[in-house]
Amino acid sequence: MKHFKLLIDGKLVDGAAEMAVVNPATGESFQTAPRANESQLNEAVAAAKSAYPAWAGCSADARAEKLRALAVAIEARLPEFSETLTREQGKPLAQARVEMMTAVYSIKTFASMALSPRVLREDESSSIVEYRTPLGVVAAITPWNFPVMLLVNKMAPALLAGNTIVIKPAPTTPLTTLLLGELCADIFPAGVVNVITDENDLGAALTAHPDVAKVSFTGSTATGKKVLSSVSPSLKRVTLELGGNDAALILDDVDVKSVAAKIYNAATYNAGQICVAVKRVYVPAAKYDEFCEELARLASAAIVGDGVEEATQIGPIQNRAQFEKVKQLLLEAGASGKVIAGGQALDRPGYFVPPTIIRDVLDSASIVAEEQFSPILPVLSYGDLDDAIARINNSVYGLAGSVWGDDLERAQHVAQRIESGTVWVNSHLGLDPLIPFRGAKQSGMGVELGQEGLHEYTQARVVNVTKAG
Ligand code: NAD
Repeated sequence: MKHFKLLIDGKLVDGAAEMAVVNPATGESFQTAPRANESQLNEAVAAAKSAYPAWAGCSADARAEKLRALAVAIEARLPEFSETLTREQGKPLAQARVEMMTAVYSIKTFASMALSPRVLREDESSSIVEYRTPLGVVAAITPWNFPVMLLVNKMAPALLAGNTIVIKPAPTTPLTTLLLGELCADIFPAGVVNVITDENDLGAALTAHPDVAKVSFTGSTATGKKVLSSVSPSLKRVTLELGGNDAALILDDVDVKSVAAKIYNAATYNAGQICVAVKRVYVPAAKYDEFCEELARLASAAIVGDGVEEATQIGPIQNRAQFEKVKQLLLEAGASGKVIAGGQALDRPGYFVPPTIIRDVLDSASIVAEEQFSPILPVLSYGDLDDAIARINNSVYGLAGSVWGDDLERAQHVAQRIESGTVWVNSHLGLDPLIPFRGAKQSGMGVELGQEGLHEYTQARVVNVTKAG
């Protein structure tokens, strides 16, 4: 068993205690991880604070160079990262490799971005330029569905901009983040990157810490609201990437077979545990039966199993608490609609739920109205397009969504009426480090990715010069 360590002030150290890490494919503990206490949290923040002036004083090129070194170091240990990710998170190995490669690409992409001064006015009487300066210590808090990718999307821009960072992963997926910390110990100056882990008990202390200048949080809407109130006394900067209930809207001119396959994939990838997974699909009444049948056929043929087996397409639900929640949703969904594929947790060790398709279900059912975060997909029929759009928009969430149609002009017009931060036309799930990503309504505040995502880790400073005469 590997001995994982925290990273505090450039040193790899034991936690104040140990905690078990469970493999969701077996339901058994397979590894221990360190567990930090509040005094280690304070040490990590203090280290980040004292490392900040020198790191902020480095050239942006020097910081980008360190990020590139991190990307190369991850690539050199890709098999170890991917296998660890599958064992702690549950996703199939092929998907773990994709997450790791995407993370490497994201780091390299941020390393190539610049924070150039912006000339706001330059004339005979004045010179007004906006500069971007770092904020100080950033707290990065991540969930358990994409522990590496979501982390580097915070870490790379935060560090490039000249901030230092204290990272806290979700308690059920600490290992890949600790591995990343191990690499950072050799690459970054002491204190620039710090990694602590907890059992869901240090998040509040970290976000409220007076020496943290910015909190970048990805997780549920419920926890996001707690984070927002915790940062309000000091008006810390905050980015919240929260839950979603993405709808896919199928128009009447699509080819059912090919679109159903894409919807199925976007609803079940990573066992549906994606903030932007398709979580409900609206299909024209005339195509409803055919669409449902195709989804049910794909779901029934899926290979569900341990992610370490190469043939596996759908891994387990990541943790027991989420598994219990999903089983309850299955019970309720079975009563409020017609299950045409899947429908019951598998009778085997581990937290397995097969892809499940539910038809003839009301909009008010929990499986439609709430974020299921599992491979369960409710399929809803519509007669009138305006009514379908209104039903889709009748949600507290607004993370993303998609519109599917052969007539691209019409599909684009429809897309503009969906109240979400991102709306794809004829695809779903595609995120790109160069394209800003943000949630509308209760799906978040602030932006991640893209130049605007990089700006979130900076303070804009306008220097306004009056010229002589
Ligand atoms: P969660 O909110 O339970 O936990 C997220 C993180 O917050 C964990 O590290 C947790 O330890 C920490 N935390 C817990 N209490 C805290 C507190 N009081 N203060 C600060 N931090 C605290 O979320 P989860 O169950 O791990 O993740 C699933 C959720 O994340 C889903 O709702 C999903 O949609 C969302 N998500 C959103 C995005 C996005 O980009 N919008 C991406 C991935 C996941």
